[in-house]
Amino acid sequence: MRVEARVRGIVQGVGFRPFIYRIALENRLVGYVRNRGDAYVEIVVDGKERDVRSFLQDLVEKKPPLARIHNVTTKHLKEEKKFRSFTIMKSSEEVELSGSVIPPDIAICNECLDEMGNPKDHRYNYFFITCTNCGPRYTVIKRLPYDRPNTTMHEFAMCDFCQNEYAAPINRRFHAQTVACQRCGPQVYLTSNDGQQINVEDPIREASRLLEDGHIVAVKGYGGFHVATSTTKSEPIAKLRTVKHRAGKPFAIMARNLETVRSFAEINTKEAELLTCHVRPIVLLKKSTDYYLSDLIAPSLHNIGVMLPYTGLHYLLFDETEEPAFVMTSANPPNEPIVTNDSRALSQLGNLVDYFLFHNRRIAQRCDDSVIRVHGENISLIRRSRGYAPAPICLRQPEDTPVLGLGAELNTTSCILFKDRAFLSQHLGDVENLETLQFQRDATDHLMRLTNCKIEAIACDLHPKFTTTILAQELGEELDLPVFQIQHHWAHAAALMAEHSLDEMISIVCDGYGYGLDGSAWGGEILDCTRKSGFQRLGHLEEQPMVGGDLATRYPLRMMAGILHGTADIEGWLLANCGCFPHGQKEVEIMFQQLGKSLVPKTTSCGRVLDAVSAVLGICYERTYEGEPAMKLESVALAGRNVVELKSITRENVIDTTSLVNEIFNQRNTFSTADLAFSTQSYIARSLALLACEKAKQLGVDVVGFSGGVAYNEHITSIIRRAVKEHGLRFVAHELVPPGDGGLSFGQALAAAWQMKA
Ligand SMILES: [Zn+2]
Ligand SMILES: [Zn+2]
Ligand SMILES: [Zn+2]
Repeated sequence: MRVEARVRGIVQGVGFRPFIYRIALENRLVGYVRNRGDAYVEIVVDGKERDVRSFLQDLVEKKPPLARIHNVTTKHLKEEKKFRSFTIMKSSEEVELSGSVIPPDIAICNECLDEMGNPKDHRYNYFFITCTNCGPRYTVIKRLPYDRPNTTMHEFAMCDFCQNEYAAPINRRFHAQTVACQRCGPQVYLTSNDGQQINVEDPIREASRLLEDGHIVAVKGYGGFHVATSTTKSEPIAKLRTVKHRAGKPFAIMARNLETVRSFAEINTKEAELLTCHVRPIVLLKKSTDYYLSDLIAPSLHNIGVMLPYTGLHYLLFDETEEPAFVMTSANPPNEPIVTNDSRALSQLGNLVDYFLFHNRRIAQRCDDSVIRVHGENISLIRRSRGYAPAPICLRQPEDTPVLGLGAELNTTSCILFKDRAFLSQHLGDVENLETLQFQRDATDHLMRLTNCKIEAIACDLHPKFTTTILAQELGEELDLPVFQIQHHWAHAAALMAEHSLDEMISIVCDGYGYGLDGSAWGGEILDCTRKSGFQRLGHLEEQPMVGGDLATRYPLRMMAGILHGTADIEGWLLANCGCFPHGQKEVEIMFQQLGKSLVPKTTSCGRVLDAVSAVLGICYERTYEGEPAMKLESVALAGRNVVELKSITRENVIDTTSLVNEIFNQRNTFSTADLAFSTQSYIARSLALLACEKAKQLGVDVVGFSGGVAYNEHITSIIRRAVKEHGLRFVAHELVPPGDGGLSFGQALAAAWQMKA
């Protein structure tokens, strides 16, 4: 019997063809296997019927750990020419319409790790040890099919040893495109900050000693450069903050191992699982009571971003040092993407670091580390990037039109929606300037090439001036495709509906800013959402003035002034505390003149209300990074109780926030800051849940979802979750894409596809 099987899924670069070869031999079959462009893996087997069946069963049941099979189609073939053996055929250059993609980067596997530590092994101490089960993928592949000449490994000709392993079907490195060793593969070297090579026997262990001594070292990794320092000494971190102009934004760290992490942070089972899985994301962990690392790593926050080593080089860095962890922050100049190119690293980072730890393999695609937070049992993706991109999100309901979504402005990603799959790009950053825009264009092109999807529509934000909106319009004209501008909060909700395969949902969407249907700033919304007819705004937080526009985002006391203007003697209080404003008394006076004229722009943003309270309580007067005042408020609230039982006040579907901020202001000397912070979050969460549940019941909808950047806040999310369940309704939150703007491109693409269908 001769059968052809086509396998779609993540089946390239994960040792799939070698696996097919092995099970074909085991089942006494002849024939061949080959990659078909980016479309699928084609297998033809010939043998006894019983053996063919057993082969097809093994195919699904014994597949390599990293392979994901989305579907297998089989058909009988006529037995024309005879096969003598089973072979792995050279990849077909033929490209057929879409489907399979290459896998994301995978952390070093235990077998490679053991070999690297074994003095008798050929790759003892070799920093770029990989096999079919591990190593970089997305960041080395330039084009498909995934074969060595199409990767940045093509510059390294294999030595005989590696070649033999590569060609031996029973070897773990059989057809491993990144196979390399000390003799033939990429080399690592240390330089001073002006690029002068420093001759040392062991550059990696030397770099580790330099870190231990308090130096700053830029380390080239899989998808870009990290800037590393000690975590126990404050001087280098302080220096890094000064030269990086990064006053308080937390730095991620890389810890030696799980046991070490336990010495300074609390880890539950879910968090331990995430830290050690093959993605190796940065996980936000609660600092423990014996936290002993420098306070400058994540100042005034209750949590810290931790990851474990994921490459051979990382493990070697920890090999001979006593340091529990190193700071490992993405090396990107302000508002620019992570640096990947060696000469650019020297020019951009030379003044920031003392040394460079380079290797001579080029990076095909930049990719930042992923970031995750765990809420009890539920995960909340903050950044879906290395280890995830470009693996698709599988949808239960396929869509007819392939759409490209381009996101909004901050934490952008691109997304290609194709039938029942959505391919999200890596984290692209804040697309506000030429560098990030170029990055988005390149990454989007790359994603289109890899997926080979022919898009038929483009989706972007409703904001007319976002760089991504302009890009969408340009692409629309270039490719002659329709452009759909999707309202920001509707896109958040659509992403959530698609994840859970819902047709209708009442959605609470809270974030910092989104362009509303009326052109004003939205951000504390309750929407009725349906696939058929889009969304309807049912209610929102009270509109509050943003005196000075964007300045009110940077200086939350301005939000407080706007909210309390006319209700409390806020002017007197601010004048007494005018030192908190960059221009002192003068600034306060001008602010109140403006407030008197009622021409001030307004916002319903939940983030801005949390910011205002953070300022009232003296927790944060200036926002130096996205989300800072609200994040610090959450950290303070952790020690609090719900002391000020504020009753939810909602008038005509508008949730009162003036009385909340007023009450907090009046009680600020009566109760502790922690209790007031706690009470604020409770009030907002309860009020939103109450209004959403009321609307759900009125409209006969049984699901309430929560999306937007505020959903990262564990306290607010858990109160909404509980309240919705108490009302007998189903609660949903994001599991597959970030609730923040990193998930928007996905929601935009879906909302556009639904609109086209309607
Ligand atoms: Zn391996
Ligand atoms: Zn070699
Ligand atoms: Zn948003």
